[in-house]
Amino acid sequence: MNFYKDHYDAILIGGALAGLSSAIQLAESGKSVLILEQHNLPGGIATSFVRGGVEIEAALHEMMEIGDKNDRRRIRKVLESHGVEVDWLPVPDAYRLMLPGLDKTFHPGFERFASEVEEICPGSKDLVLEFLEFCRECSESATSLSDEMKSVLHILRHHLPFVRTLGYSAGEVMDAFRLPDKVRDILSPYWVYVGSPISELPFTVYAVIMNEYIGHGAFIPKKTSHELSLKLAERAEALGVQIEYRQRVSKILVREGKVTGVRTERGDEIRSSLVISGAYPHTVYRSMIEPASEVPQEARKMVHSRVMNLTAFSVIMILDQPKEALNLADYCYFNAGSMDSDHLYEEMKKLHGERYTASICMNAANPGSTPDGTCSFSITMMPRVEAWQGVRPEDYDAVRHELASELIDDIGRRLGINFREHILEVVIETPVTFAHYVGSPYGGVYGYKHAMDDHTVARTMKPEAEAFISGLYFTGAHGAGGDGMAPVIGNGFHVAKRILGK
Ligand SMILES: Cc1cc2nc3c(=O)[nH]c(=O)nc-3n(C[C@H](O)[C@H](O)[C@H](O)COP(=O)(O)OP(=O)(O)OC[C@H]3O[C@@H](n4cnc5c(N)ncnc54)[C@H](O)[C@@H]3O)c2cc1C
Repeated sequence: MNFYKDHYDAILIGGALAGLSSAIQLAESGKSVLILEQHNLPGGIATSFVRGGVEIEAALHEMMEIGDKNDRRRIRKVLESHGVEVDWLPVPDAYRLMLPGLDKTFHPGFERFASEVEEICPGSKDLVLEFLEFCRECSESATSLSDEMKSVLHILRHHLPFVRTLGYSAGEVMDAFRLPDKVRDILSPYWVYVGSPISELPFTVYAVIMNEYIGHGAFIPKKTSHELSLKLAERAEALGVQIEYRQRVSKILVREGKVTGVRTERGDEIRSSLVISGAYPHTVYRSMIEPASEVPQEARKMVHSRVMNLTAFSVIMILDQPKEALNLADYCYFNAGSMDSDHLYEEMKKLHGERYTASICMNAANPGSTPDGTCSFSITMMPRVEAWQGVRPEDYDAVRHELASELIDDIGRRLGINFREHILEVVIETPVTFAHYVGSPYGGVYGYKHAMDDHTVARTMKPEAEAFISGLYFTGAHGAGGDGMAPVIGNGFHVAKRILGK
């Protein structure tokens, strides 16, 4: 087709947060860049939709590494340095934790958070502060080393706590600090945002999350995550990136171990010796490489060995009362029968097992996000991808409605609210929604599982170990830095910098 050039320096598959970030970095270095996005909008999961005249956030609960204007964190700085300005709003609380015998709201800021833990667990404040400060130190090391590689000697001299904890899980470091059980419970809820139980979650990842969410607080874009996606897309186009929507890439063309271009679903062949895929390695190596004989054995092995992370099931409601009338004072509500993450992770294999839900009242951070006199409340559970594999297509509708009803009633009982009496609009998102919308295998939304034997630091520091076809790169939640909107933006810029040799 003639609206494509004969050749591009780089072709990106997918115009979501990671792909857009890579494109901006490459275009700033004068590269000609084409993004092929299968939908009519940028952003992938970072999007919104309209129901009953209300714009509804499709996914985002909270973003880390943003910070306010006086405490600009890494991703805010990166975005601003590339000309992407977003109207950020702070999230007021860290979380309201609802466990049997415990119902308390905790707030960001180490001192305030530790004082709130002290109210529940007298005598724990100093230990909690010491632990959080240790998280801060390791997190700052991880962030600075991911920005700039240093010599081994420098790392040993200046980042010793980071090095010493690299081989340990969050659970093992909590053991070393001898945190009492109740304190551990209070310090654990965020594991569900990365999908690895505390015993398997690399401490490095945990430390970054605690430092960012508790130390600096979470943020959301005022006009939903779609604002973030649109701003990135606008910036990319201003830099000359060509974005073509409704163009699904079906094949990546390879000859003698080198990428030569792509073919879209409608049959256009476009040339480039550099393809950056937002589609998962699972999908690319199983069905997109042409000819299939060009898929190296190592790539197949890598795909087989990697564990898909969690998927999501969300019920988003617009309610006919303001949040105050419903006593929804907080933003984030974590609700579970216990904080035994190994047990909950096992239960996530089942649709009707013991549940761990994360609920959000968007109006607590963004009062104007729904019309006056209304508010929104979403309930999300994170099943493992296996949980949905037994659902037959003919049962799908009944299963999702039954599950949504259970979630609404569970949290309603816990909060003492009969949500059913107040629903103006309700939307149910399932793993099928995500598989359909972004093409992720099994509807995964968190990339690959972070685990001690598949460690994000090792993957970040040795990217060449996964470079199986010359000129083929990956960017997104399935990348080394893992899932989440801030990590994928970081990953997007990072991949492009690596390609540019920066
Ligand atoms: C319910 C829910 C809640 C979440 N909450 C949070 C949160 O609170 N905080 C947080 O930080 N993160 C959260 N996340 C995770 C976060 O949304 C994702 O990690 C992140 O948005 C993934 O971005 P990505 O760039 O990897 O691409 P994706 O959003 O996965 O998009 C991939 C893009 O590639 C396109 N594409 C794929 N294949 C092709 C093809 N063959 N041809 C053309 N285009 C293609 C897709 O259309 C899509 O645009 C949440 C996710 C969900 C589902």
